[in-house]
Amino acid sequence: MDLGGEFCIICGSTSPLVHERMCENCMRDRLNLAKVPKTVQHIRCARCGLVEVQNRWIELSDDELWEELVQRVLTVHEDVVGLNISLASERIDDRNTRLHLELFAEVHGVKMIEQHTIMARMSNGVCLTCTRKAGNYFEATVQLRSAGRRLEESELQQMRASLDSLRAEMQPDPMFFVTKEGPVQGGYDIVLGSKGLARTWGRRLIQRWGGQVKETNSVVGRKDGVDLTRLTLLYRRPAFDVGDVVRWRDDLWRIASWSNDGALLSKISHSQRTGSSWRDLEKAQVVCRHSEQVVVELLSKDSSAGEFLDPSNWRTCTVRLPYDHQGEVSVRLARIDAEWLALPRLNVDEEE
Ligand SMILES: [Zn+2]
Ligand SMILES: [Zn+2]
Repeated sequence: MDLGGEFCIICGSTSPLVHERMCENCMRDRLNLAKVPKTVQHIRCARCGLVEVQNRWIELSDDELWEELVQRVLTVHEDVVGLNISLASERIDDRNTRLHLELFAEVHGVKMIEQHTIMARMSNGVCLTCTRKAGNYFEATVQLRSAGRRLEESELQQMRASLDSLRAEMQPDPMFFVTKEGPVQGGYDIVLGSKGLARTWGRRLIQRWGGQVKETNSVVGRKDGVDLTRLTLLYRRPAFDVGDVVRWRDDLWRIASWSNDGALLSKISHSQRTGSSWRDLEKAQVVCRHSEQVVVELLSKDSSAGEFLDPSNWRTCTVRLPYDHQGEVSVRLARIDAEWLALPRLNVDEEE
């Protein structure tokens, strides 16, 4: 033995020292890449399956949950660099899953591999949303109605679906739940856990389908010196939609778009646009809905008229071209009083 050279303070070996005067073998024996507890607990909502993570209830796949739990409990040695973890799960029973970890990393230039197992243990809980739902908690009722006509089933479905897409876009909130919903005389009612969601949805309904919202607040009690109120939002969808042809002030118009307090109308006979309030529009009468209009190919045309095959009987018909026609091969038609009428174009026609 060369007593003049360096040697491992643990085993006395003269092989190269890698850290704190230890040889590689002794460092491997004494250093762990990470400390891992034997078990880790998590809470899952017994009603909806959401998992509690850092005081929030979120939706996680099993694999995401295992990763989250490992991140939560793993204490990595401070000298570790380039840590890689491979994770495999082994289901034991409904509540217990054994997680097998393999850690790969480098410490003081020495590559190390280490294995651990953790038992992930699930306990049942009830999330905030489910607690509130079970108590029939609600803050707001949204009433979907129409102005002077019956809402079609497909219209109700579209309006209801817009609530789901709104919720998907918004930051998740445990109060964004539906307590109760269903058809009622003249429309559809939805009872919601959040006033904020109800109001945002009301604005969304107006943007998309026009109309107006009426808000009523009622006091239902007092808590901690503050009035507890409930909100009722009455949404009235107009009798017409963007793209419809309406008779208004003895002329035919198309609804071009919604405005702040009504709609923008586009005249059919010539280029003219005008704004109109909801009050003004009460007398508007729908003569051809956007969904009832047809687009036909022109067989021939001159500067003012075009020929097409009438889709109802396949006879050749002639129609005066709309004022904005610029040589397009097709034209949009409305059937009004047993006559075909060619329509000037609107943005909504392109969206179809
Ligand atoms: Zn040693
Ligand atoms: Zn739940």
